[in-house]
Amino acid sequence: MAWHVVIAGGGFGGLYAARTLERVLPPASARITLVNDVNFMLYTPLLPGAAAGTLEPRHVVVPLREELRYTDLRLGRVTGADPARSRLRLETIEGHDEEIAYDQLIVALGSVSRTLPIPGLVEHAIGFKTLSEAIALRNRLLLTLEMAETLDDDAARASYLTYVYVGGGYSGLEGLAELQDFAADVIRLYPRCRVQGMRWVLVEARERVMMEIPASLSDHVVRDLRGRGVEFRIGRTVERVTEREVVLSGGEVIPTRTVVWTAGVRPHPVVTRLGLPLEPGGRIRADRFLRVAGQRNVWAIGDAAAVPDPARRGQACPPTAQHALRQGRRVARNVAAELGSGRVRPFRYRTLGVFVDLGRHEAVASTMGIRWRGFPAWFLARTYHLLAMPGLKRRLRLVVDWTVDLLFERDASELGQLGHPPSLATETLQEQSAGGTGGEADEPPVAAAALGPPPVETAPR
Ligand SMILES: Cc1cc2nc3c(=O)[nH]c(=O)nc-3n(C[C@H](O)[C@H](O)[C@H](O)COP(=O)(O)OP(=O)(O)OC[C@H]3O[C@@H](n4cnc5c(N)ncnc54)[C@H](O)[C@@H]3O)c2cc1C
Repeated sequence: MAWHVVIAGGGFGGLYAARTLERVLPPASARITLVNDVNFMLYTPLLPGAAAGTLEPRHVVVPLREELRYTDLRLGRVTGADPARSRLRLETIEGHDEEIAYDQLIVALGSVSRTLPIPGLVEHAIGFKTLSEAIALRNRLLLTLEMAETLDDDAARASYLTYVYVGGGYSGLEGLAELQDFAADVIRLYPRCRVQGMRWVLVEARERVMMEIPASLSDHVVRDLRGRGVEFRIGRTVERVTEREVVLSGGEVIPTRTVVWTAGVRPHPVVTRLGLPLEPGGRIRADRFLRVAGQRNVWAIGDAAAVPDPARRGQACPPTAQHALRQGRRVARNVAAELGSGRVRPFRYRTLGVFVDLGRHEAVASTMGIRWRGFPAWFLARTYHLLAMPGLKRRLRLVVDWTVDLLFERDASELGQLGHPPSLATETLQEQSAGGTGGEADEPPVAAAALGPPPVETAPR
């Protein structure tokens, strides 16, 4: 009977593992099943572009069924595992609990935003990790401009026009830079807001932003963003978040309606229910061959796994897409070797480079010891992502989106209602009560209801 290889998680690690298994396993020797909670892979490095409206949301995802030829995609939520019986548990999209038996299991369940026990944080801040959060942020920017425009009081308006990002890693800096660029483009449509201007603040607890790149480049990032009016609070932490303000260490109070939380990630919480050994940070303990410690037939890769970093002795690989996808390719070859094709080899990889795209044709990059700034770095970053995006069709879509963005102003329609159609029952009830009692007066103000922030996504989707 054919072997059964199961992959839990279809992001960078899982997709590349499945694609490589399809290539390296002898035909018909194994069944490959990929379990993922959505039917696409999110290309996260382009998420800031989706939030800023330079890229269509559909153009920053990779449909898994289009990329995989022989893999059976099972849509569902992994809920646990029993490694002693070689079983993975999941809840299907229809809501049934199911168990899948496997001969080899690859865990690639990624990470979620890492929150801290800060009063008000999970209730009032927005994360920046998923497509829904990115699109919610774009809509929120437009909604806050709309609301600010209606206000007569300058101070009240200022709180809607203030955006505070917490966390100076790539997602925070790129996210802020791209959204600020979008705001600079559309604010001309809002006369009162244009006169008042927006305020953008980045809060970072460590001594500098972007610890992953050389200090000279992170200084360049700060200089560039300061030049655009962004304020930095370095070495400061968030003490409290409310609906109307954020309080920083040292007592500074910033009136704001929007706090974006980009201060790191932690493994997806479901990894605690897989019966596998975990490192203190919560990642699954894997060896340099990507095999889970003490397990014969379970492997772990990507953000959810603590894999020894071949480039930094004694440390785990950083949670990056570059590592996850290469671990995906390696683990596939190692699993194939376990099943009789090839040799099990250790994971080897040294980061090729880091890019920070700041929008407006500005970026910094550090690639194989060479430092780049400005337009050449921006061009390099775009070219890299263009080549890294799987599929010619998707690459062409990126080129079209980027070209349209160069030639035209951005669209300012607030589309928060997308994906939330009114129910027919509600409409009928409203009609009836309006006919009888004039009940529409009871409806909450549309914008106020919509502005309730989607909280930082920390739990399983
Ligand atoms: C805004 C942003 C920008 C980034 N930019 C870069 C960059 O420029 N370069 C870089 O190298 N890295 C970047 N990263 C990091 C990169 O996205 C991650 O390191 C990478 O996605 C990790 O891959 P993974 O396979 O471990 O997890 P993921 O790609 O997150 O995949 C995990 C998959 O598992 C699924 N899943 C989770 N839980 C369940 C469950 N219970 N059941 C079923 N399926 C589940 C998820 O839906 C997802 O499809 C960025 C991250 C963010 C948020």
